[in-house]
Amino acid sequence: MKLPCPDCRGDLVEFDPGSGNYHCTNPTCNFQYVEAASGKEHRRTITADTSIQGANNLGKKPKRILVGLAIESALMSMGHSIFDRVTTKLRDDYGATVFDCLEKPKYLKAVLEGNFEKSVADVVSKSIRAILGEFAYYDSIRQFLEDLGDEGDSKHSGK
Ligand SMILES: [Zn+2]
Repeated sequence: MKLPCPDCRGDLVEFDPGSGNYHCTNPTCNFQYVEAASGKEHRRTITADTSIQGANNLGKKPKRILVGLAIESALMSMGHSIFDRVTTKLRDDYGATVFDCLEKPKYLKAVLEGNFEKSVADVVSKSIRAILGEFAYYDSIRQFLEDLGDEGDSKHSGK
């Protein structure tokens, strides 16, 4: 099913298949989503500070995505089998995905340490660190990196 946005005429997307909620993906459009069953439309309330959302004030949700994508990318660079094992273990052991790891770095840490050679876990964690390093000015991301890699040298990093 394809619906046009009533405001900007762009395509509406059902982010959560089966939900019946169709979202506008246009970031500058104030239309949020329509409940297809009832036709009820939802729009953002326009406020001064939602109109300019620079990369410097990312909210919680984009950071979860950023961290999740960094983990995926790091795992993919190690090969499909490692990617599959980690994501499967996250799901089976914790009912989690890589996108939950910003809040729960210990899940990823436990999966890496419990299922792989230390060298593999180290490479993954280094690779994630390399990708996310430039975002470490966000407290939550810095905290994530610290929690992920509290091995020896970085254990007491002046807190
Ligand atoms: Zn729209």
